[in-house]
Order: sequence, then structure tokens, then C-alpha cells
Amino acid sequence: MGTPTLTIRLDALAQNWQALDRRSGASCQTAAVVKADGYGLGVAEVGPALAKAGARTFFVAVAEEGVALRKALGSGPEIGVFSGHMATDTGLLRDHALIPMLNSPEQVARHRAKLPDAPFGIQLDSGMRRLGIAPDDFAALRESVLAAKPWLVMSHLACADEPQHPQNAAQLATFTEMTNGLGLRRSLSATGGILLGSDYHFDMTRPGIGLYGGAPFSTALQVAELSIPVIQCRNAAPGDSVGYGASWVAARPSRIATLAAGYADGLIRAMSNTAVLHARGVPCPLAGRVSMDLLTVDVTDYVEAHGADPDALDILGPYQGVDVLADAAGTIGYEILTSLGGRYARRYRTGAPA
Ligand SMILES: *Cc1c(COP(=O)(O)O)cnc(C)c1O
Repeated sequence: MGTPTLTIRLDALAQNWQALDRRSGASCQTAAVVKADGYGLGVAEVGPALAKAGARTFFVAVAEEGVALRKALGSGPEIGVFSGHMATDTGLLRDHALIPMLNSPEQVARHRAKLPDAPFGIQLDSGMRRLGIAPDDFAALRESVLAAKPWLVMSHLACADEPQHPQNAAQLATFTEMTNGLGLRRSLSATGGILLGSDYHFDMTRPGIGLYGGAPFSTALQVAELSIPVIQCRNAAPGDSVGYGASWVAARPSRIATLAAGYADGLIRAMSNTAVLHARGVPCPLAGRVSMDLLTVDVTDYVEAHGADPDALDILGPYQGVDVLADAAGTIGYEILTSLGGRYARRYRTGAPA
């Protein structure tokens, strides 16, 4: 119990994929996005669990992530690479059967020159202006690209987590106009777009964050549980301060627990004095600033309820999901998950909670 433990609920992950697959509709294929090491939760375990749940197509950000995923999945599933075909990718794409989503006329030319017989997809810019071939460039390339029969044509929504945002309908219209009549499989939506409704689904959806328990998929099951052991406890009298900068001051006779994790473990400093942990369901707020390797927590209420110091506190789990913690730190669930560090003992659970 001396090490903080990150429990990853592969059963919840599988159920989240299946729920998003149902939302995507019967005529639409549901892929799985596992970039950034499966949103920080470990692609070697997350990838096979999603394949077992039914996912046949996966997406990663860069070719190197595709190599790790291919190792985990074996030769069956399709793996798409959002960054496309960069100059140093050719060997990786070829040797590991990765499908680049070509993003620019330069990438199209490179792929054609280097791997003329290998499959590719096309990523279009429908208005996010991040990745993808712009409408005028696509018009110029259209005939020659179509002749090579792309595997998929896709785009990405900038505002899908805000259903009322006018850019959703604008991007839908642009994507539809760019792709109607091509006779190609189409994909526009990630988690947020799935929830916008069937107009946004096309032939394939690409959920990421919803698989891992994050907003805007509000009925997602929590996948990450993080429990941190207590190293020591001390008393603080009214007026006593705790931690760097003496930023927390006891207002009552208090019991302070010092825990074995900090911002080097992804519990970012912006959580200082705002995030809440839980000990057997009792909320215990952070008291003072987050240190590199330590947290100080006000466990006074827990000690009053249970008559003893806690052994460990939960910062993610049934009492608090990633988005609640993210809100406390002024960020988003994506950043909380992908920041979780390498010092946790990781347990992958496939069954119901013990
Ligand atoms: C990250 C990403 C996704 C998945 O997005 P979520 O919001 O995590 O569901 C899908 N498509 C592209 C192009 C992405 O970059």
C-alpha cells in the first residue's frame, strides 16, 4: 500500500465503447481513438480490451503510437494515423500496416511517391483549421485522389462539445458539400459529434474521451480510479498554516494528512486548495499547495466520523470522476487523464468491482 494505485476498469471501457456504438447507429461503424497511450491509461491493455468489445478500427496521433498499438493488437484491426504521412514515417507505415490520414497536397504527393500501393485516408479541413486538406486544395486534387480509392475521408469538429454552437452545422454543411457523390466512406464525429445526432454520424464515428469516462458523454462509466496512500498525519491549530507559501490556514483544530503523490504524477498544481479527495466517501479537501511528490489534505471530517486517520484517499473513482477533478483545476478531463504519471502502480480490472 506504499504506492499510489491507478486502477483502470477495462470492463467500464468496454461498456462505454458499446454504448457509443449503439448511439452511432446500426449503419455506422464505431472506431476507437487510442492516441497518447490510450488517453494515458495504457494502450497495450486498452487496445486489446476495445478490440474484444468489438472495435475493428483504431486511430492514433502519430506513426510511433501505431507501432505500439499494432504490437498489442496483432495483424487484424485497421489502424489510422491522424498526422498522416510525415517525412520519416514511410518505413513505419509500411512495416506495421498503418493507414495515414493524408492532410495536405504535400502528404498526398509523398504517399504517392513512397508507398503508391499502400492504403491511405484523406483528412479534410471543414473549418477547424488545424489538420486537413482545405476545400480549394481538395478541389484541385479531387480527381487524382479519387482514382487511388481512399480508405476513408474524414474531418473533425471544433465545437462538438457545445451542441448549440453554430460552427457544428457549418462544418457539417462544408463536409457534406466536399464529400457528397464521392462514393467514399465518411467520418466526421468524435465523442461530441456522436451526441449531436445521426446527421453527424456518416459511415464511421471516432470516439476517444467518452470511452475513458469523460465529458461530454455524461453517462459514461468511470474508467480511472486513483487511490493515494497517507504517509503521515499531523495536527494543525487554528491559525497554523500548511504547505509552500503558507497558503492554507486552519480555521479550526484540524487533522492534516500528507499523501504520496504530487504534480510530478499529473496532479497539477492548479488543484491547490481547490480539489477534493475522498476517504470512504467522506470529502476531504486539499489543504495548501500541491508539491512535486506530496499532497496535504484536510481529513478532520473523516477522523471525526471514523475515529482514526485514513490509510489512503481516492482522488478519482466512484465519488469523483475525471471531469469534477478537471473543473477543480480549471482544465478538461482529457488533460487530467493524459497527465497521469509513470509512478503509479497500475492495475487493470476486467470484472465487476471486488
Ligand atoms: C482526438 C481525436 C478524436 C477523438 O476525440 P474525443 O473528443 O476524445 O472523442 C477523433 N478525431 C480526431 C481527428 C482527433 O484528433
